[in-house]
Amino acid sequence: MSKDNTKKKVCVVGAGIAGLCSARFLAAYPETFDFVVFEKNKDIGGTWIYSENIGHDEHGLPIHSSMYKNLREEPVHIVYIKFNILVENIRPMRKSNNENTETWNVKVKNLENKSTEELQFDAVMICIGHHSVPHVPKIIGSETFPGKMLHSHSYRRPEEFRDEKVLLLGANYSGIDIALELTKYASQVYLSHEKDKLKYQLPENIIQVPGVAKINGNSVYLKDKDSTVLTVDNFIYCTGYLYSFPFLDNECGIELDDNYITPLYRHMINIDHPTMCFINLPNDVIPFITSHMQVQLFVSVLKGTLKLPSREVMMEDIKLQENQRKKDYHNLGDVHWLYLKCLIEQAKLEPLPGFYENGLKKWFNAFYKYPSDVKNLKFVISEDRESARLLNQFGEEVLVPETSNASS
Ligand SMILES: Cc1cc2nc3c(=O)[nH]c(=O)nc-3n(C[C@H](O)[C@H](O)[C@H](O)COP(=O)(O)OP(=O)(O)OC[C@H]3O[C@@H](n4cnc5c(N)ncnc54)[C@H](O)[C@@H]3O)c2cc1C
Repeated sequence: MSKDNTKKKVCVVGAGIAGLCSARFLAAYPETFDFVVFEKNKDIGGTWIYSENIGHDEHGLPIHSSMYKNLREEPVHIVYIKFNILVENIRPMRKSNNENTETWNVKVKNLENKSTEELQFDAVMICIGHHSVPHVPKIIGSETFPGKMLHSHSYRRPEEFRDEKVLLLGANYSGIDIALELTKYASQVYLSHEKDKLKYQLPENIIQVPGVAKINGNSVYLKDKDSTVLTVDNFIYCTGYLYSFPFLDNECGIELDDNYITPLYRHMINIDHPTMCFINLPNDVIPFITSHMQVQLFVSVLKGTLKLPSREVMMEDIKLQENQRKKDYHNLGDVHWLYLKCLIEQAKLEPLPGFYENGLKKWFNAFYKYPSDVKNLKFVISEDRESARLLNQFGEEVLVPETSNASS
């Protein structure tokens, strides 16, 4: 970073897609911003860096990536990044000469030589992802299970489950995706969940069963009226992830309650300290375009070209809806497109070409209809970028019926 005091100094934490996107838009204004990206890993890509390792890395830190062998990966290129640097603490500080201006004190640790350093910034962008800290619900008797019991975060390869009976708890994207690849190796796959029965055309050796009530040794008791008992060799929790910001000092004012993070305007800006933002925090979204829009909005705020509403308006905006559960607040799902439109309108950003929304809806409908084949379809964008087609291996268009719901 230069010593030019006229520029805003920005700290970006993490070099996954959200951090890279932040770097891209900050770098577009070299006269305004001086920035650095701190990345605890030795490479860019965040959760998309595949590693056979599970548990902890060579520095004793929990492995960040939840990538498994057959998940798709895209290569990316390097920018302004300091690797092997762990952000350990972030806290706000008042500038002594101006009570209303805040800076951020960021404590970083060099993971190679173990030295620490405290640095000051005018803004911080937290881009640390949220698919690294497993959510493992407590199940009575789980400690008595003798087989492999793991969270999908530590799942890597289906071959390890050859000829065995596996129960996956949870039928969201990871649960379904892992179940499908296990069917080629495992003798039996139970997909246990409490949703309505999935409409998917599932292979014969996947059986959908109700949720799990308790475990006793290899016996898994289901939550059905007959108290069905299954005997399984392995148990995989596909039960999602927890938000976690271990480096945020209490003074940052961020509260985390049942995966509901407050006070965050537009799921991103710390209302009480608006020079702090979180990129890519919503769930069930397309993370690439979410980052793209959120970063531009925040950069506009930092540049002063976008003024945020009053604190009262922002606080009103983040209230839970009637009957909305805290843990669902950041799960945008279908509201994602509306959310992006709000960001685009508010920050006067270039709208997305049409293929994003209609093409991705098509892709998800294909996922619901042909979950086993969808990874092999080609996504072909029209020349005017307003639509997209899905092509099979023979180059034929795959027509997918509209569906609003994965379950029957
Ligand atoms: C198995 C799997 C499941 C997924 N499930 C979903 C899903 O359900 N919904 C969805 O929308 N997307 C999902 N994704 C997509 C994925 O989350 C996004 O594509 C994207 O990778 C997130 O990018 P990110 O930059 O926000 O976070 P990440 O890719 O996680 O990058 C964060 C970076 O921050 C670094 N970092 C963390 N803490 C620190 C620190 N203290 N100091 C320095 N560096 C730090 C990490 O090392 C990492 O490089 C999934 C991906 C995988 C592999």
